[in-house]
Amino acid sequence: MADPKGFMTTPRQEWPRRPVGERVRDWDEVYVPGALLPIISKQADRCMDCGVPFCHDACPLGNLIPEWNDLVSREDWRAASDRLHATNNFPEFTGRLCPAPCEAGCVLAINQPAVTIKNVECAVADRAWAEGFTPPRPPERLSGRTVAVIGSGPTGLAAAQQLTRAGHTVAVFERDDRPGGLMRYGIPAFKMEKHHLERRLEQMRAEGTKFRTSTAVGRDVGAGELRARYDAVVIATGATAWRELPVPGRELSGIHQAMEYLPLANRVCEGDIEASPLSAAGRHVVIVGGGDTGADCLGTAVREGAASVTQLDIYAQPEEERDEDSEPWPTYPKIYRLSAAHQEAGELRTAPAADADARLFAASTLRFTGDAEGRVRWLHLVEVDAARRPRPGTERRLPAGLVLLALGFTGPDRADGLVDQLGLDLTPRGTVARDAGFATNVPGVFAAGDAARGQSLIVWAIAEGRAVAAAVDRHLTGSSSLPAPIGPYDRPMTV
Ligand SMILES: Cc1cc2nc3c(=O)[nH]c(=O)nc-3n(C[C@H](O)[C@H](O)[C@H](O)COP(=O)(O)OP(=O)(O)OC[C@H]3O[C@@H](n4cnc5c(N)ncnc54)[C@H](O)[C@@H]3O)c2cc1C
Ligand code: SF4
Repeated sequence: MADPKGFMTTPRQEWPRRPVGERVRDWDEVYVPGALLPIISKQADRCMDCGVPFCHDACPLGNLIPEWNDLVSREDWRAASDRLHATNNFPEFTGRLCPAPCEAGCVLAINQPAVTIKNVECAVADRAWAEGFTPPRPPERLSGRTVAVIGSGPTGLAAAQQLTRAGHTVAVFERDDRPGGLMRYGIPAFKMEKHHLERRLEQMRAEGTKFRTSTAVGRDVGAGELRARYDAVVIATGATAWRELPVPGRELSGIHQAMEYLPLANRVCEGDIEASPLSAAGRHVVIVGGGDTGADCLGTAVREGAASVTQLDIYAQPEEERDEDSEPWPTYPKIYRLSAAHQEAGELRTAPAADADARLFAASTLRFTGDAEGRVRWLHLVEVDAARRPRPGTERRLPAGLVLLALGFTGPDRADGLVDQLGLDLTPRGTVARDAGFATNVPGVFAAGDAARGQSLIVWAIAEGRAVAAAVDRHLTGSSSLPAPIGPYDRPMTV
């Protein structure tokens, strides 16, 4: 670190967001372009060389955070990029999308605001692209071995890049028309513009990875055929089977799953369609589900010009500060967080019926009622206590012209037949069963990412992609020098 007293003299400063009134009129990222680089070296200098960096352990990728903080504080961007890419294939994704458990574990965060680790990561990644520090790295020699990766989300992409660089011939099969998984058609552009994804895909193609899009394995190509044609198969198909809300009135029109709604908005941004057939424009929108997917629906509905938006969360509003007894440092605490979308909804007062940031906490949906044409008109709710028991006398209704269900995901989507065709064992939770070496019950077939661990995070997906690549490389060649993050991968989700 250039200044050993940086953590005492420099206050935490985050990448500023654009004014709400400006950013809700477009789909660009919410941050002020160009405003990160001028502040970031001083921010990296706040890293105090604590000696036992819990941030490093809190990051599922084992990112070498103190090392690149030091290099950034000295403005040695090339070396910082090398250290960052040593553990993370796609830091421009995590630098924008990760919830940053590392910051919850920062030693400075014991009694001061944490180092802005995620912002430093993003700055290093963006600078590396701008300066040309990340050229394609095709292998020097081919191994003559072939791998089919099924699914092109962050898990499949990380696995494919590692295996390609190790010299194997890799084809990525993707049922959508473009690669990227949930980063393509789930996550809105205002959180991560898609050109970041395109740039990585271009790099991967230049390294030799082949992409077979619009090809659902199980439907367009037999899973058994793929297994026979390739030396190894990696299942990275995600966990996109959504959870339902079985209450009266669910059959009314105008009630949709979040992942029916978000991809259409993303397709408008991609230029595939002019307007979303499910657009929120002029409608009263209620989002059922208090998580990040719900927040993405919220930001999207605001940009589409909804008449009002309310997000329902069945849990009580969390405290602003961590509870030191139940969630002590360095764990990732469940505290009140205001995402960019909540900030927008709050400032624009889009939801007069809800709290200031458009969320209604401790609210449970009872039923929907509609009009004579079978369209949803009202969502009826009741407030609940911590045990989800209704509080008498709190029943009320919200106007609802569009209802979006964001209740989480139950496991891999089985409609394509891939699981059955291969005869894959599943866990009691419905995810693909695999052993500690990522191997499924079918020889030569491996599983990683959300398909195996359940709906999770991009940082975990990249970590699993890197780790499964090392396991496949060992399977094909008897040993592997590919680095893999140290699990345990069955660690329960804390973030
Ligand atoms: C709306 C939304 C927002 C999110 N926001 C964030 C965020 O901000 N930060 C974060 O860390 N995490 C976020 N997540 C979670 C994160 O996106 C996932 O954990 C991550 O994408 C999982 O990666 P994956 O590669 O395992 O699966 P996925 O990204 O789901 O990719 C799986 C791919 O496999 C393809 N596929 C499936 N079956 C087949 C088949 N039979 N043949 C061919 N292809 C197939 C799918 O089409 C898909 O492209 C979000 C999730 C959602 C739903
Ligand atoms: S990937 Fe996430 S946890 Fe790891 S350093 Fe980056 S922001 Fe922190």
